[in-house]
Amino acid sequence: MVIGRWWQGLRERREQAAVARRAIPDDLWKRTLVRYPFLRRRDTADAAALRRLTSLFLDRKEFSVAGGLRLDDAMVVAIAAQAVLPVLRLGLARYDGFVGIVVHPGQVVARRAVADDDGIVHEYDEVLAGEAMEGGPVMLSWQDVRGAGRSAALGYNVVIHEFAHVLDMADGLADGVPLLPADIPAQAWRDLLRREYGAFVRRTEAGEDTLLDPYAAQAEEEFFAVASEAFFVDPAQTRREHPELYEMFARFYRQDPAVETAAPRGGG
Ligand SMILES: [Zn+2]
Repeated sequence: MVIGRWWQGLRERREQAAVARRAIPDDLWKRTLVRYPFLRRRDTADAAALRRLTSLFLDRKEFSVAGGLRLDDAMVVAIAAQAVLPVLRLGLARYDGFVGIVVHPGQVVARRAVADDDGIVHEYDEVLAGEAMEGGPVMLSWQDVRGAGRSAALGYNVVIHEFAHVLDMADGLADGVPLLPADIPAQAWRDLLRREYGAFVRRTEAGEDTLLDPYAAQAEEEFFAVASEAFFVDPAQTRREHPELYEMFARFYRQDPAVETAAPRGGG
């Protein structure tokens, strides 16, 4: 008990020192919230927690660049603030499995190879706005991160997408099933995800307009990542179009962004 309290005290002091070391100036934080309105929280304690987690994230993660990009404070704060939004109530320890974040100026072309049933290898190019691998690093296109304020209306957010993959892979499997709390049985999660995914694939095949990017039809783990983007950056529309999924995500993320965000609402 006493040891526990001592440890807790030590941890709090260390975190406090990290937050002070990585303090985000008021004007920079305000500009970040203007640029990315989906980060704004109604509740002042939530707003403060997001800013504090952003500082802790900056203290624990290492940024590097590619393609001659120059990173400034506004850029790393923009990335960190969006990255910690999904773990606002889950805690930053969910991201302990990796350290590095590589930022590219724009999207990246990756050479892929797949073998067909006859063992013939086919090569193709895949254009990536981001990528997450188990154990990291997380790769991001700055062009996509920068546009995240505007693209929120499309439910698009590359940072949240990749960090949803990080949460998904925490159990060693990229399958659309993250580490779940005791009150969400894995089977219930899987059943709902499969049902929603199947319905979504049918809608995209029928050429219907969808809130979620049709890329979500690739696989269940992509559906989870794409739906997580929309959940955070266009929550009202997500709740309307996917009420059951929204409710399950709200229980998993322990957030209700359709209610808790302070961003100005669009009509409808
Ligand atoms: Zn993905």
